[in-house]
Amino acid sequence: MKNIARNIIKSFMRLGYYWLSFELTDQFLKQSCIVFSPHQDDETLGCGGTIIKKRQLSVPVKIVFMTDGGGSHQSPNLKSGELVRMREAEAIEAAQVMGVKKEDLYFLRCREKELSRYQGWLKNRIIKIIEDFQPEEIFIPYAKDSHIDHIVTRDIVLNAINELDYTPKICEYPIWYWTYWPWITPKPLAPASSGILIRWKTRLKRVLITLSDFISTRYAPRYKVKVEDILNIKWEALNKYRSQMTRLFDDPAWAVLDRKWLKNFFSKYEVFFAKQ
Ligand SMILES: [Zn+2]
Repeated sequence: MKNIARNIIKSFMRLGYYWLSFELTDQFLKQSCIVFSPHQDDETLGCGGTIIKKRQLSVPVKIVFMTDGGGSHQSPNLKSGELVRMREAEAIEAAQVMGVKKEDLYFLRCREKELSRYQGWLKNRIIKIIEDFQPEEIFIPYAKDSHIDHIVTRDIVLNAINELDYTPKICEYPIWYWTYWPWITPKPLAPASSGILIRWKTRLKRVLITLSDFISTRYAPRYKVKVEDILNIKWEALNKYRSQMTRLFDDPAWAVLDRKWLKNFFSKYEVFFAKQ
């Protein structure tokens, strides 16, 4: 019963987002872009369909990976630096599937959760990358994404853009936003022993975050890109991230991406929030 109600609200909200978004057809997709990706897989999850569509139109696309991805897993089977090398190789393969060549990828290799320590260096590096390429569009993580690397990536790129002498179109792509209710059933944030009031408080908080976001942004400009015809290519690209999609080394503690959560990235459209 709970799931039926959640699914109805989810469908209603998704239709609302679609209905309120401006569709970027081929004519608008012909704009060159850079995608700033905190981790190796965010670019595919959040913008993969759009990247594929742009590349099918031979539009120049570059991807900048901010962190080295070395913090996603810990396992006694992993040698030092092995996960970083693995994720970089996976990112190159995923990009190839989406039609982006290795020379159009940048790996800035900061340690996860430590981007703020390198703010100055990152900002200068990003200004140089953007100025050299002069993209018409820039994709950054959505403002309401809750992960620290996503928040800091967004801040640093926006600071860099402020120093440019031209104004590219900025599109924000949600990733962690899809972990809120009703997009998935949230795992309880408080342990069962903490009492019913606290458990419901944390649950209610997650519900309110999504609903208030939906209401506050209902007239905010958004874009949508129809990707349903190339979802198989997006799925193929995502599966190149074997370290995230499969359990390596038969290690039972190895976390893989939640399949129910992934469904949010394989809908008819990819939706982006326009930064104003
Ligand atoms: Zn991420």
